[in-house]
Amino acid sequence: MRTVVIPFRPPPSLLRALYDVRSMVNRLVIEWRHRPDLSRFAATKRSYPALRSVYAHLGSKWAVVGCNETSATLNSWDRMLRRARGHDLARFDRMRSRLPHRAHLKASLHPAQYRLKGRGLDITIHPSRHVTVDLSQVRNPLFERYLGESNGKFGLSVTDHRLLFHFYTPTEASRAKESVGIDLNMSSLDYARLDGQIGSVDLRPISRVQGAMARKRISIHRAISKDVRHQRAVLRRYGRRERNRAIPLLHEAANPLLNAVGDRNIVLEDLNATTDELLRERGSSERRRRLAAWSHGHLQRIMSYKARTAVVRVNPRGTSSECPRCGGPLAHPTWRRATCENCKGDFHRDRMAAVAILSRGQSILWGAALPPNALNELLEAARWRPDDENRPDPAGEPKKGDEA
Ligand SMILES: [Zn+2]
Repeated sequence: MRTVVIPFRPPPSLLRALYDVRSMVNRLVIEWRHRPDLSRFAATKRSYPALRSVYAHLGSKWAVVGCNETSATLNSWDRMLRRARGHDLARFDRMRSRLPHRAHLKASLHPAQYRLKGRGLDITIHPSRHVTVDLSQVRNPLFERYLGESNGKFGLSVTDHRLLFHFYTPTEASRAKESVGIDLNMSSLDYARLDGQIGSVDLRPISRVQGAMARKRISIHRAISKDVRHQRAVLRRYGRRERNRAIPLLHEAANPLLNAVGDRNIVLEDLNATTDELLRERGSSERRRRLAAWSHGHLQRIMSYKARTAVVRVNPRGTSSECPRCGGPLAHPTWRRATCENCKGDFHRDRMAAVAILSRGQSILWGAALPPNALNELLEAARWRPDDENRPDPAGEPKKGDEA
């Protein structure tokens, strides 16, 4: 599924419907929590008649939307609860006795509620009342492309400031013969191509923004330590600012990379496979990765939607602790260097990780390991070089003075 976001100001009648959906959600959350014995389906069935009579000015599908949104709100709350139980018991205790409250305006519409005719998007408020959104000004080239690829099949979510189109594009992307493995780090992105080419893209402009924000976050925690609510509001604002500054930089980083990728399949680390481990673990390198988690995820998304070939994700576990040549344990005499006692291999950690990721992707795509001569050539290219030590530091902990 491909999502395209289009800025949008809903007309008053649609905006009122969004407010109605929000009040449905906040009302149903309470009702449904008192009947945990009911399945979501049974709860929907039970709430439907009351919703229909209270919100008679809306078409019947809006009651369904309200129930679906309630379900989504409760699911994400439960997910947060589970996560808090794992590593923040104080937060878990605070949350446990409370109920989620929907503050934002959003509705994922039922397919019967909207229709695209040419460049006019028709949304049904009530069988007798419709709003038409003019999309002829939309300049996003991806909108055009996915609309074609999906044969006009899409899901639609509406918020008070944007439209989200979820296109159902065919999942089977064309699988190219060659692939490229990508290892994402805080300060650089290293790639390894099957033809033996290895390269790197500088991500330090992004890590600088994040480092500065991490320090700002700490000082906000200190400055407003009493008022948690206020603190959270300020943090949210700064988080948004961080994203606004980092996202253009991520696009800038993605472009040279996509040139290097060409028509190859992309093999990425599966960040989900590591998130849970990261949240539990401490230690500076893990903290560093956690700091980079959202930007890495975003960069991966940018690459996947711009890619014209298959994108595979592999579990990155052990890519920097296991020798890609002989499988022996790796030692790290310095942060960037990886040596193998067993086969006397001496590698650059990030380049080697990119090779390992490529090799895992190769077995997912083709069910076979890298051909030995290709692996040898890549490992030769990933070898530790004397001038690697002079390559700028991977920006371990954010340092003073690299404020962006
Ligand atoms: Zn080895």
